[in-house]
Amino acid sequence: MTQEDGGSIEKRTGWAKLCPYCAQSIRFTKFTNWQGPVPFFYSSSGRDLLMRRSDRVRVDDLYKSTEDSSGPAIQELKHLWLDILGHAPEPPHGGKFTLWANLRCPHCNTEFPYNRGIKDDRVRIHDPAVVVVDGVTVVEDSGSYRVSVEVGIEKG
Ligand SMILES: [Zn+2]
Repeated sequence: MTQEDGGSIEKRTGWAKLCPYCAQSIRFTKFTNWQGPVPFFYSSSGRDLLMRRSDRVRVDDLYKSTEDSSGPAIQELKHLWLDILGHAPEPPHGGKFTLWANLRCPHCNTEFPYNRGIKDDRVRIHDPAVVVVDGVTVVEDSGSYRVSVEVGIEKG
């Protein structure tokens, strides 16, 4: 991490795609490789992402206290997700963290529909990857950092 304008920046390697709305290039990366569902929430402005270790611990605790080997029911998980949102901090760039807010194009600010517009609790809660576009601020327990995505050069 490096310091710039008083906030930390984390550089990550990612990919680029053209925005289907404005045709400008969007750099993005993904956080993956977790076991079990991870609570993460975009803000309604699309500029912030809430993803805290303390919330992850609450999920682990819920799994540990569930006797069913397949884990907690989706309703229990959603209850926890909504409880996290109910006590969530204010996003640094305004708006609100919500369950269904999704990524926005950093150029034209159009929000991409989540799961092609289908609000499925199970898909949302068990999402295996968190997509982060360049410039998004990630809010953690101990503070926040901005993600700077560099597109890797593919070798021919
Ligand atoms: Zn766009």
